[in-house]
Amino acid sequence: MEARECTRCAELAATRTTVVFGAGNADADLMFVGEAPGANEDLQGLPFVGAAGKLLEKLLGEIGLSRAEVFIANVLKCRPPGNRDPRPGEIGNCTPYLIRQVELVQPRVICTLGNFATKLLRGDPAGITRVHGRPEVHTIGTHTTRLYPIYHPAAALYTPRTMATLREDFLALPGVLGLPPAAPSPAFAAADVSAAADEADAVGPVEPVAVPVVAPEQPGSEQLGLF
Ligand code: URA
Repeated sequence: MEARECTRCAELAATRTTVVFGAGNADADLMFVGEAPGANEDLQGLPFVGAAGKLLEKLLGEIGLSRAEVFIANVLKCRPPGNRDPRPGEIGNCTPYLIRQVELVQPRVICTLGNFATKLLRGDPAGITRVHGRPEVHTIGTHTTRLYPIYHPAAALYTPRTMATLREDFLALPGVLGLPPAAPSPAFAAADVSAAADEADAVGPVEPVAVPVVAPEQPGSEQLGLF
């Protein structure tokens, strides 16, 4: 993958120190997707090494998991200058890398951290406050998995209520990991996977937010009543 020298986003390529591709167990059952590298991540080339990362590690420890056991990535692989929000064109440019990561790691569960990852991978504008803590089966690229949206740890650092909700959702994570493997619904298996593969193979920049790569869970999903 050509990510280390990526210049799809001219401004990000000119201002970054390193491309923060992702880190962790490439065979993980659990993957986290954050928003974008911050200053510490940009310098070290690793995701979630600052204060939000410390909180993520602490919460993982509370459910008996370590950072080394999971895979951690971001929507954007480059730091937006001044930690501004990712722009739609940047998200579109970077999404093929994230899809490839999901296809390679094949996690059973993807925790989307905060609004950007949640909206992108759910393919829906509903915000994290509405959808957190509820697992849903989605197909990302060619891989069918459970998305489990939770608050971004950086948001929880400054707001005790958000911290309490994040911890509560985290404590339910072992139960989500214990659900049967997510299976593609027959309706999507034929139609969407080939479209998703085309999308992931795209060579040039991709226009904003690749919604078609994501197929929502079908009605009658088994697990929602548990939460
Ligand atoms: N916040 C993110 O979303 N990602 C990181 O890697 C660090 C902080």
